[in-house]
Amino acid sequence: MIIEGKSIAGQIELEIKEELKQLGTPKLAAVIVGADEGTKSYMKSIQKVGEKIGIEVEIVNLSEESKTEDVREVLSGLNFKKDGIIIGRPFPPHIDEQKVIASISPEKDIDCLHPVNLGLLFLGTPRFKPCTPQAVIEILNHTRTTICGKKVTIVGRSNIVGKPLAIMLIQRGVDATLTVCHTKTLDLSARTRDADILIVAAGYPWLVGADMIKKGAVVIDVGINVKDGKLVGDVNFQEVEPKASLITPVPGGVGPVTTQVLMRNVLLAKKLSIYSK
Ligand code: NAD
Repeated sequence: MIIEGKSIAGQIELEIKEELKQLGTPKLAAVIVGADEGTKSYMKSIQKVGEKIGIEVEIVNLSEESKTEDVREVLSGLNFKKDGIIIGRPFPPHIDEQKVIASISPEKDIDCLHPVNLGLLFLGTPRFKPCTPQAVIEILNHTRTTICGKKVTIVGRSNIVGKPLAIMLIQRGVDATLTVCHTKTLDLSARTRDADILIVAAGYPWLVGADMIKKGAVVIDVGINVKDGKLVGDVNFQEVEPKASLITPVPGGVGPVTTQVLMRNVLLAKKLSIYSK
């Protein structure tokens, strides 16, 4: 069965709209350094979704020549003006990403990048849940997929997807039995075939084919790649879909849910700012 990410996203959107009635308009800043087209179009899509829901998204474009300190200064100012802040990545290589992230106030860091927020996540007491990993968990919950005790394999160990997702899946109460794979993993197929739930976030088009999954597995494809001018995932959907019990498509799977989780985090940041006064 194909998991309709858009329908799950629609449900989250309705919940957000309901809550916004009492809260007023939250404000999100989306900071871009340089001219990466993919980042710009991602931020524009966030802005469009925000407009539809009632969240104000200001895109702050900084020039490619901006230095780490320039970006930090802009972010320090935005900490006082906005409810939430996201930064577009990748940054130009001369920017020190960790220094930039450290200048976002943890209370505004709705993407959960700041070391304080990652520490809270690690301890199982998160302030914000990182958007893409939370979207994956949201999809598993919406489809009533049992995670407790199941063998879950994640392909990818990045700081924004694989690693935080691993932390979230092994928390008490979620209780997955986990394998995390990466470019140095030997015999990737053996690890993916062993999984009841396979989550792929490698950024490698069609990395996973039908011979790499267990029959009846739940397959969540986080990857977004362009192949022959088309958007495709890390999973070869045509091949894998008949063998999987549940599978997310690309596009229309994890992506739209991630965007709504992000919007919900802006709402949460707004609530935190109101109740901490
Ligand atoms: P990244 O490049 O930072 O990390 C990729 C990870 O995958 C690395 O840990 C690497 O070791 C592993 N990997 C790469 N190729 C592999 C291979 N052949 N075998 C085993 N492991 C391999 O990427 P990221 O930022 O984590 O993003 C991963 C993918 O998810 C990208 O396609 C990205 O566009 C997409 N993404 C989607 C969303 C969403 O909301 N849908 C959000 C963020 C990222």
